Amino acid sequence: MTVRALPVLELPARSATGGGEGPRVAAELEEYVVGPESLPRFFIWTLGCQMNHSDSEEMAGALLAAGCAESWSLEDADLVVINSCAIREAAEQKVIGRMGQLAELKQARPGTRVVLTGCAVREDNRHVLRRRYPSVDLFLRPDEEPELVARLGLATLTAPGLMAGVAGHVPETMAPHVPATIARVGRSIAATADRLPGTRAAAVAAGSIRRGSRWDAWVPVIYGCDKTCTYCIVPFSRGPERSRPFDDVLAECRKLGRAGVLNLTLLGQNVNSYGHDLPPEQRFADLAGGRTLGRRIDTTGRPDFAALLRAIDALRLEDGRPAIARLRFVTSHPWDLTDRLIDAIAECPSVCEHLHLPVQSGDDGVLHRMGRQYSVEAYLRLVQRLRSAVPGIALSSDVIVGFSGETERQFEATLELLRTVRYDQVFAAAYSVRPGTPAARLPDDVSPGEKRRRLNALLELQEGIGWELNRAWVGRRTEVLIDRVDQPSAHGEATARGAVRVAGRNRQNKLVHLDGGPELLGRLVDVVIERAGPYSLQGSQVEATIPA
Ligand code: SAM
Ligand code: SF4
Repeated sequence: MTVRALPVLELPARSATGGGEGPRVAAELEEYVVGPESLPRFFIWTLGCQMNHSDSEEMAGALLAAGCAESWSLEDADLVVINSCAIREAAEQKVIGRMGQLAELKQARPGTRVVLTGCAVREDNRHVLRRRYPSVDLFLRPDEEPELVARLGLATLTAPGLMAGVAGHVPETMAPHVPATIARVGRSIAATADRLPGTRAAAVAAGSIRRGSRWDAWVPVIYGCDKTCTYCIVPFSRGPERSRPFDDVLAECRKLGRAGVLNLTLLGQNVNSYGHDLPPEQRFADLAGGRTLGRRIDTTGRPDFAALLRAIDALRLEDGRPAIARLRFVTSHPWDLTDRLIDAIAECPSVCEHLHLPVQSGDDGVLHRMGRQYSVEAYLRLVQRLRSAVPGIALSSDVIVGFSGETERQFEATLELLRTVRYDQVFAAAYSVRPGTPAARLPDDVSPGEKRRRLNALLELQEGIGWELNRAWVGRRTEVLIDRVDQPSAHGEATARGAVRVAGRNRQNKLVHLDGGPELLGRLVDVVIERAGPYSLQGSQVEATIPA
């Protein structure tokens, strides 16, 4: 049996058609009120990283707040929002490959509108977008996403839900954050990346983020990326780093803890550099010095990611229990992994014993050409410090094979690094040239066949390492947050025995399968591990520790 975890809305109940009920409007405006039936049913197709998924939650929430209903399939939607990924060419091709289907859909239902946003939309490629994505009506850069509702003409004075943002109707809690422009009807909102933290705060205060789970939540803490990894498109699509205000992040985490969220993941392209761009404050005066932040900037008196972790860890519910049981974060650039941060990871009980620390290559020459700003030796020192501060910490990484100029010897060095570090999980990909990035000027001189061979060799090595590490879990007891009911087809054995299986992650981010039904969803369960595979563990429940 499969159970679909329906999104949990922090919104007032909607009518049967799915549209918002809409607030009462002044008598003189009643004739202009838009009924939910005339608002589009939307479908958001999200590709790529967790940041994209988090952005989609915000866009879905904004559309629902405007009174639109959500469609469960692209085919039934009047409004298709594609939140794209451009990290590799294959990701862009996935969307380009859907243009024909979207054209047919629009022909059959001429009112259908298609919006493309995410990393495929950049200022530097606007001129090719129309040709590349002929079925798209509106292109929005990631920092323009807060404009979605307004740019679709749904931000009218009479659109249900939006009245909450109109002057005089602004809820008190939201008032300090509401961008003044939302109150202006019929005027475009100027796009500036700096608005992202503000719009997030408004969405949090209004409770309009359409979260996908009751027990799991993403919280963006920093937007953009200041690194200049030469292969990467992200700094071009998402712009420079902008941290959300410290108290805004805390307020969101507090609210999520009170709502029963158990597993919270802080998001950013490089969370480790959180806070360097925030104004100095007296309360962070003791943060002067003591930080070995890679960049040469004055961080005196500004909060850092370690301070943020400690503050979230210290949040308490009314009964004194920690507000958040499990705290995670992605991604961490090794260059900004400070001693202060390692101490915070070690000392905060809620911070899970797992770190995703992308290395990309095991050769200094390749790392240098990639602009990664660390050497293999420096990276290994970090791993050592982490492992002595947090015994048993699970590590995962990203690796790119076949980067420009990578020789066989340099590739072998990456394999050697994997043998040395013994990651629990590695996300590997063949290098894909991204037009506009600095590396696009370098020759793409490792053939596709050779990239594939290297990728397979690396994955085979990692499979063996992962399996060995997983076998060490057999016989151990571990706490698992159940977050899915297994598809019967994904578990031949379950079908054969007719048993329902569930799965979830332990604190070290290991995927664990066990017998059990949907009543376990959202529960922390103690499990004894009985078997290990290369990518997951299997076990039996000991007892449920915390009710959902
Ligand atoms: N900010 C993160 C970091 O510092 O590693 C990663 C963000 S990026 C969305 C995720 C991963 O995509 C990278 O770690 C890298 O391994 C991979 N990636 C980025 N650009 C790539 C490219 N041009 N070709 C292949 N893989 C790429
Ligand atoms: Fe891309 Fe490097 Fe920034 Fe990660 S740190 S998003 S790989 S530029």
